[in-house]
Amino acid sequence: MLITDTHAHLYSEAFDGEQDEMIQRAISAGVDRFFVPAIDSTYTQAMLNLAMAYPDRVFLMSGLHPTHVKENYREELAHVEEQLSKHTYYAVGEIGMDLYWDTTYQEQQQDAFRYQIRLALQHKLPIVIHCRDAFDPIFEILEEFKGKGVYGIFHCFTGTLAQAHRAIGLGMKLGIGGVVTFKNGKIDQFLDQIDMEHLVLETDAPYLAPVPYRGKRNESAYIIHVVEKLAMIYKSTPQEVGAVTTANAIRVFGV
Ligand SMILES: [Zn+2]
Repeated sequence: MLITDTHAHLYSEAFDGEQDEMIQRAISAGVDRFFVPAIDSTYTQAMLNLAMAYPDRVFLMSGLHPTHVKENYREELAHVEEQLSKHTYYAVGEIGMDLYWDTTYQEQQQDAFRYQIRLALQHKLPIVIHCRDAFDPIFEILEEFKGKGVYGIFHCFTGTLAQAHRAIGLGMKLGIGGVVTFKNGKIDQFLDQIDMEHLVLETDAPYLAPVPYRGKRNESAYIIHVVEKLAMIYKSTPQEVGAVTTANAIRVFGV
């Protein structure tokens, strides 16, 4: 089976000492390629090393994660900009807003989000959005850029059916991961009303492990549980889910 994990923090400290084994387990489970989102500049070198070690499998994004927008965010944005001009990246991400953990830097988060959308437009790259307790402000900013060619992925989509339609209308695919297997995850209730052509698969490893690993460290190989759940929701087969969502990922990332 062919599966694309469009969102995996493979460089996370959570995998220290067994990164290669973890990647091999994923490959054995059918994960062909990994798209790796950035968090901040402290991880850049580890990410570049990974892409060098797995040139046909690991594809990097550059970006400043909203929970890492702090006093120094302008320096961090300059780092993102420099990376985009120096190395090959396949998306600007993950970027967006997170008002769940902390609202201290709400304005700076908005500023950083707009700035990085502009970088994506300049470099003709998709964006990968992190949205937590922030649908309204994120939609407002995306509306500002309407018609300018912004596209990408709403990573770890946890909204309502109406928000799903709105995101799709704004050029986004929905990143579906472990949450779809949760009893209270809600999105499994309406996903069958959304064409599979709007979905991509992701783990967000090491976070958000699917059932039956919920609460444990997540890894890319567990994506198979997301695939199986989607096959049930769409009355399809795991092979078909893997193939359709992989084709969608290729359309987003251009590779
Ligand atoms: Zn992430």
